[in-house]
Amino acid sequence: MKTLTDFNFRDKKAIIRVDFNVPLNDKFEVTDATRIEAAKPTIDKILADGGSVILMSHLGRPKGVQDEFSLRHIVDRTAEILGRPVTFASDCVGHIAENASQNLKQGEVLLLENLRFYKEEEAGDIEFSKQLASLGDIYVNDAFGTAHRAHASTTIIAQFFPESRCFGLLLAKEIESLNKVLNNSVKPVTAVLGGSKVSSKITVIENVLDKIDHMIIGGGMTFTFIKALGGKIGNSICEDDKLELALDILAKAKEKNVQIHLPVDVVAANAFANDAETQVVDVNAIPDGWQGLDAGPKSLEQIKDVILNSKTILWNGPLGVFEMDSFSNGTIELGNFIAEATQKGAFSLVGGGDSVAAVKQFGFEPKMSYVSTGGGAMLEMLEGKNLPGISAIMC
Ligand code: AMP
Repeated sequence: MKTLTDFNFRDKKAIIRVDFNVPLNDKFEVTDATRIEAAKPTIDKILADGGSVILMSHLGRPKGVQDEFSLRHIVDRTAEILGRPVTFASDCVGHIAENASQNLKQGEVLLLENLRFYKEEEAGDIEFSKQLASLGDIYVNDAFGTAHRAHASTTIIAQFFPESRCFGLLLAKEIESLNKVLNNSVKPVTAVLGGSKVSSKITVIENVLDKIDHMIIGGGMTFTFIKALGGKIGNSICEDDKLELALDILAKAKEKNVQIHLPVDVVAANAFANDAETQVVDVNAIPDGWQGLDAGPKSLEQIKDVILNSKTILWNGPLGVFEMDSFSNGTIELGNFIAEATQKGAFSLVGGGDSVAAVKQFGFEPKMSYVSTGGGAMLEMLEGKNLPGISAIMC
């Protein structure tokens, strides 16, 4: 696996695929610059070597050229974060981009216009990829969020740099963190799988069963398991067509010596609303008209024990409807347990979708070993898939 540290960028132009797909407000100001900040270490290392940097990214989902999706809106903020001037090329290929690249000097940064102004980007067009490739001497991929897409700038371009392509620091960290959980993990390994549906997590569950010792099941998907086991779930969310699948997962887990931890009690509500009436009930005896919306106190006690005794923890999916204050306690408590385990030396990875949102919302981000930046890409890695953007650098 080649990373930035395998190259000296002196007098080289690095063309970096970054993920600057940042949210903008109606004045076209960047409202969350996390992704730009995350790319800074890679850019700084190249400039410190004595190289120059060409940044390419997409922004939103434009249909052809649309000014509202122009990356010119983020030039000033990028310059502010990098602490140096950033030149903008109003096209990502052709004469404008070529001239801008030719004029680029040591220590300078150039940002290209939105790649998705060309349909060739998402189509993975080889000619378009070749044109992009002609702008730089070394190709760096630091965009984990798009690593599961075989687009021109994320994958196809790599073939034009057979000896001079590598992962940026951010992407390398994502791969390394996932390896620490799935391949080189310190036992006991615990996966916490929550969220609303079994169906959206089934491939992840199947892939991780071989690699873990404990699986904590929580959130809405609990009730498909409980119903399959004969419990009474009232009006709780349930996928009736997945009951057999749930039993199959439990059987496979037993075969592989994975201990499954299902909740024993839940906070049930008489409506899907923050101000609904609530009561704590046995998970197998939820009254009709009531639905389980958060983990109960006994379940949290059980989870605490498992988490605090784990050396490797993967967290994907909330334990309840954390978007509503009344049902956020389970997810917050889980965050506290994982933070405590991490402080005691466990490695914790939070990845894939809503758990990342929850971790950010409740301020747990600095207390976890690693919080993944790529929702869909992380999910596909957890599912055991090869990501084209990663394979293209490795092969
Ligand atoms: P997912 O995208 O599958 O990770 O699911 C995340 C969503 O699951 C969040 O929006 C939660 O509000 C929701 N969720 C978690 N627990 C429950 C529950 N007991 N009932 C209904 N929805 C839930």
